[in-house]
Amino acid sequence: MGRPMERHEGYSAPAQDTHLNKAKVAIVKAHDYDCAQIYAGMEKGIELIGGLEKIVKPRSSVFVKINHLSPASPAERGIVTHPVFVEAVLELLKKLDANITVGDDIDSDIEDGFQVSGFRQMCQRAGVRLTNLRDAGFVETECNGHLLEKVYLSRTALDADVIINLPKLKTHSLTVFTGGVKNMYGTIPAGLRTRFHGEYMKSEGFSQVLTDIFSAIRPQLTIMDGIIAMQGEGPASGSLRRLGVILISQDAVALDAVATKIIGLDPLDIHTTRYCDERGLGTGNLENIEIVGERMENITVLDFRPPASATSLFLRRVPGILSRFLLGQLSAKPQLIEHQCTGCFECEKTCPAAAISKSGETVKINHSICIRCMCCHEVCRFNAITPKRSIVGSIIHFLVNTWKRLMAASH
Ligand code: SF4
Ligand code: SF4
Repeated sequence: MGRPMERHEGYSAPAQDTHLNKAKVAIVKAHDYDCAQIYAGMEKGIELIGGLEKIVKPRSSVFVKINHLSPASPAERGIVTHPVFVEAVLELLKKLDANITVGDDIDSDIEDGFQVSGFRQMCQRAGVRLTNLRDAGFVETECNGHLLEKVYLSRTALDADVIINLPKLKTHSLTVFTGGVKNMYGTIPAGLRTRFHGEYMKSEGFSQVLTDIFSAIRPQLTIMDGIIAMQGEGPASGSLRRLGVILISQDAVALDAVATKIIGLDPLDIHTTRYCDERGLGTGNLENIEIVGERMENITVLDFRPPASATSLFLRRVPGILSRFLLGQLSAKPQLIEHQCTGCFECEKTCPAAAISKSGETVKINHSICIRCMCCHEVCRFNAITPKRSIVGSIIHFLVNTWKRLMAASH
């Protein structure tokens, strides 16, 4: 295990140009995970927002934050940032002679997660250091957020001159969307991540925690892997959807806003985007964002399948008892698909409410204490836990999404 956690004061988040000028987001196309094609697209996109030299000084230390969920999964499942996508970023950085470290905080007790996803092989091929963030430990850092006063942040990330953030474009069954802001959640220790899921059960509170963490550790550049995205019940059990896009920005909030618009969501409906915009941590309002490269209208997909939680966001606009009833129907419970359960018990270890217990070769879920955070669904690599709504909830979900699609198509 890594170095012990220690206290760190006075870390100041990287300065950003917010609200002074319009935030710039570049949209470029790349149809496949072909390194040369992605490299060409990224090079063009980064030039469109002002060039990499403006962000990364020669020979500076760069931490490349990938999105690598535990448990381990092959890149083809679309859960992690694709290694070939990251390889293209590394090729660009190597031209600046940067001192590069690629990493995330992952659970590798059972197997080498980086080997399973292909990151181990890719970094060896590229000649770049790959690290599990827990190896260098975490540092207690002031964040003076709305909910968190202090948080433990990765020493590797804090020590870097530049952080490059590489999220994957995915939906999320709790927060609706997981992008550039949420990817920084991986810079805190796994135990704390589980604790916050338990303490902040609703999307609003949890998104305030994500915003607090983002306020303490902001990347200088965010490049989103939207070549193959995840729709439905992400971030681990949705279905794959080829979008063929790469988004690039120095403002992760603006990038998230554009990404959500592309998949048919209202950017300011996403709590993290709205909270960050309100706190001046980035630009969430599309009117204050300049899009360069491809036109957003040519990329937007009207039939991208949102998670159930997206319908909940929409229904919050309906006042009174009716809204509460509809939301109650929509709230999904985790359901075990017993024949797919291998008895690995990862979900039992992850559940912040201790609602999962061993039951012979498999597990059982105590729904009376379940807080519906869907961590079990996220962690189960065998798709043996799925969010399940009532029939009424499913009908509401279908009707709301059909109506939203028709409205979007008519504009
Ligand atoms: S539900 Fe999934 S994570 Fe839980 S024990 Fe079964 S296979 Fe493992
Ligand atoms: S059973 Fe699953 S959804 Fe319920 S509290 Fe535990 S991890 Fe969260």
